[in-house]
Amino acid sequence: MQTFSYHTHTNSFGLFDGHNSVSEMIDAAYKAGYTELGISNHLIYHPNMHTSSEAQKNDKMFHADKQKAKEIMTAVVNDIKEKAQTAPIKVYAGFEVDFFPSKRWRDDFEEIISAAKPDYLIGSTHCIRTADESLVLNLYHLKESNCSASMVEELMVNYWQNIIESIQSGYFDFIAHLDVCKLFNLGVEPKWDVWKRKVIDTLTEYNQPYELNTSGWRKVGEQHPHLWMIEELNHRQVPLIISDDAHTVEHIAYDFDRAESLLQSINYKNRHKPKIKI
Ligand SMILES: [Zn+2]
Ligand SMILES: [Zn+2]
Repeated sequence: MQTFSYHTHTNSFGLFDGHNSVSEMIDAAYKAGYTELGISNHLIYHPNMHTSSEAQKNDKMFHADKQKAKEIMTAVVNDIKEKAQTAPIKVYAGFEVDFFPSKRWRDDFEEIISAAKPDYLIGSTHCIRTADESLVLNLYHLKESNCSASMVEELMVNYWQNIIESIQSGYFDFIAHLDVCKLFNLGVEPKWDVWKRKVIDTLTEYNQPYELNTSGWRKVGEQHPHLWMIEELNHRQVPLIISDDAHTVEHIAYDFDRAESLLQSINYKNRHKPKIKI
């Protein structure tokens, strides 16, 4: 069984959506038999993050101020690295990054990570947006926005496009939960399969690792991504990592045995483990 997860969250500084401290997560990972733990709190930054919706403006995890994001993300990494020194297992500090393709975002993002110096990066898409990124709406706050159902449907094209460009960016050690949109009953109709196939093609072309995220089982009864996507990606030998996406100590290694038996049942060949240089 895989004895590590690089996709986990904490409640560091009361600013993130995990429910436990860094020390509690390390302790739980050690007790679960992990040899390595990557802590990947959310890096959610966009200059238009606060003007796009009131709910996003009020969410402490969502940054529109580059300087503030830089300070917070640096403090988070330093805190994890300090606790890693006395940990009984290897502990790394990463970010689960909400990626955007514009040059403006990339320049700011590069400045933030060169200050914070995380050990690794996970690429995520939790937002839908207009092509010019003037409107950026997080799926978790979509209900509180004024976006109509038809507008959401229209913007879903950019959800998939965003994942494709995150793969092409080369920033990320692996790509998170390809079909997280299904938690909101979005991107589930067969018409979106063409986009899911484009994502598969891009992962293949870039040999980009991606995750089997077990949190889907506890949220909607299906892992991320769909089994047919995992099967197709196995056929193309794209590297896969299992993630628990733990937001509490109870989530550590959640359903890892189930993930392992699923992968065994389809004889998944290429498994990924991040190579961290520190
Ligand atoms: Zn996520
Ligand atoms: Zn996550």
